[in-house]
Amino acid sequence: ARQFFVGGNFKMNGSVDGIKKIIGHLNDAKLDPNTEVVIAPPALYLLLAREHLKPGLEVAAQNVFDKPNGAFTGEISVDQLKDSNITWTLLGHSERRVVLQEDDQFVASKTKAALDGGIGVIFCCGESLEQRESNKTIDVVTSQLKAVKDKISDWSKIVIAYEPIWAIGTGKVASKEQAQEVHAAIRSWLKTEVSEKAAEETRIIYGGSVSENNCKDLSKQPDIDGFLVGGASLKPAFVDIINSHL
Ligand code: 13P
Repeated sequence: ARQFFVGGNFKMNGSVDGIKKIIGHLNDAKLDPNTEVVIAPPALYLLLAREHLKPGLEVAAQNVFDKPNGAFTGEISVDQLKDSNITWTLLGHSERRVVLQEDDQFVASKTKAALDGGIGVIFCCGESLEQRESNKTIDVVTSQLKAVKDKISDWSKIVIAYEPIWAIGTGKVASKEQAQEVHAAIRSWLKTEVSEKAAEETRIIYGGSVSENNCKDLSKQPDIDGFLVGGASLKPAFVDIINSHL
């Protein structure tokens, strides 16, 4: 069975004190021992988070560059993450695809760099409202995934986060049927385009207005293997979401 996975994407939020408080709360909480938990604070606080977070809980970057160390002002390399005991990175978040104009190729290239370096990747994909309304959801998501498939062969360290853009930060969560439908389509794409093993073993998690109120129902869907949580990961309710699979 696939291990349940819950990530907290802090986005550009938090402070030294605030992040220490969130971590203190996580460290003290009773968390489902069968769920993998990863938090992604802003880059500036990665080391702080790693220092304070108890062993067994992991820290992720929100982004990483695809070149080794060198003259790339403002970027962070895979080696630097590893050196800091940061074992995961998010990649392809829609806020980066839209606001920072990252395209499928660039996201795929960074995914390859992270995996080659031994860092796990929480790969984000998802459609806009306009794309959903014109029935392009599955096409959009599978073409985002295909760019990755063209560059990598080992899917064992990827978690796929399906995050419909219209559900992010809007309070408008995808229904369990809507999420399950896309998750199942992604799994079937993995089966035909990658391998039976990848389809069976790859965690596909849902993100977009996940809260303590809607997580339980979503977590019962057969192809939903966890969550990528934005706003609620900054609140005590994050613990309830981590424990939604209990
Ligand atoms: P919200 O949970 O705030 O909607 O954000 C989801 C998200 O983008 C996680 O990466």
